[in-house]
Amino acid sequence: MSQFHFLNKVQPPQVTSLNLPPNTSCVLLKKQTISVEPTPLPILQPDGVLVKVIATGICGSDLHNYLAGGVGGRPVTEPIVMGHESSGEVIAVGDLVTTHKVGDRVAVEPGLPCRRCANCKNGRSNICMDMRYCGAPGSVGSLMRYFALPADMAPHIPEHISWEESGSIQPLAIGVQIGKRVDLRAHQTVAIFGCGPIGLITAAVAHAYSARKIIAVDNNPKRVEFAKKYISPITGKPIIDHVFLNTDLPSSIPQSNGHMNGVSPTDVGAGVGDGEAGVVEEEHHVTPGDIKWEAAKERAAKWIAEAGLTAEEGFDRVIEASGAEDCGLLGVAIAKQGATYLAVGLGHIQTNVFPTLAVTNKEIDVRGVTRYTASCFPSAIDLLSRGVVDLKQLITKTFPLSQSKEAFEAVRAGNDIKVIVKNQEM
Ligand SMILES: [Zn+2]
Ligand SMILES: [Zn+2]
Repeated sequence: MSQFHFLNKVQPPQVTSLNLPPNTSCVLLKKQTISVEPTPLPILQPDGVLVKVIATGICGSDLHNYLAGGVGGRPVTEPIVMGHESSGEVIAVGDLVTTHKVGDRVAVEPGLPCRRCANCKNGRSNICMDMRYCGAPGSVGSLMRYFALPADMAPHIPEHISWEESGSIQPLAIGVQIGKRVDLRAHQTVAIFGCGPIGLITAAVAHAYSARKIIAVDNNPKRVEFAKKYISPITGKPIIDHVFLNTDLPSSIPQSNGHMNGVSPTDVGAGVGDGEAGVVEEEHHVTPGDIKWEAAKERAAKWIAEAGLTAEEGFDRVIEASGAEDCGLLGVAIAKQGATYLAVGLGHIQTNVFPTLAVTNKEIDVRGVTRYTASCFPSAIDLLSRGVVDLKQLITKTFPLSQSKEAFEAVRAGNDIKVIVKNQEM
């Protein structure tokens, strides 16, 4: 089995002397087939730490890996240990390590950039062209009892942060990176599509950064109700000001109504619409995408009005964390002119209808985000440590390692927000 990080191939004495039990791991054998079985103990390197993993969060990309048998277009060709959202306790340190000692509580940074490719050399190691990422094909994951990694990728966690919460530091680091990429600033208005873990964590980060108004949208009534009750540790009130239940946008014109949903393109303000009156009134062939777009503008205008932002004609920052085509349209429709739109959600198809004309006319910055950057883990740990972000509320279920399959099935069912596996519980 491939190793996450290795130079030496022999286990040093500080590990062999521990006489550890078998390294029980959650192994993806093939598509939708998980086995909880021992795998080789990772070899502690001179610059590394060996971690007794205590908690591991399961997220959408793990689920995708499980269901599809691979991530990012890379199929699983050999059995692979899953998981990438872990924390635990240091039980051995490499000979060269001065920063860590046995007993330290640490998080696991799951991405090991190559340091050699053009993107790494350019300071953008999160988009490394040869990234080793825990649980992705080619790199062992951290859903096991004992995991070894370079010490500098194991940031310390303060005592007062619970293990369960520590198992969600990685998605919080992703939330911090989302904040960086969308250029979150104090006193902005923020619209979030998708009330799953990443959507809610992003809301928590925006709130901690003093967002003025936050709205969120989801098509699952349970998630909408959950999001309404996500309480701020700072104010004691809900983090999200308005949570809206979404339904599919129509893509064909109702027979009885020749007009697109009764809305004329000039009915809505520039911030909601295409940015420039007249453009859409030219003679052109009406496509299903155009029909959806008109409906998206109408719906976005309602949400903007309910949020009290009609005069501003939309939101400063839009975070699309659902991956749904409709939310791309709604996201651009709800963005004010000059806004920034960040594509976070991963859909199941490569191409979607996207309102490019409105993007241009509203001069919207459309950006993407991949993984996290260097300072995100320290920032995430700091946000938790100071108590300005609370992840405890998001953890709706925990499973012992032996029930990893049940944990994945719980994520698949979609009724839970954050599912955590306890790696030492069998
Ligand atoms: Zn994840
Ligand atoms: Zn690289």
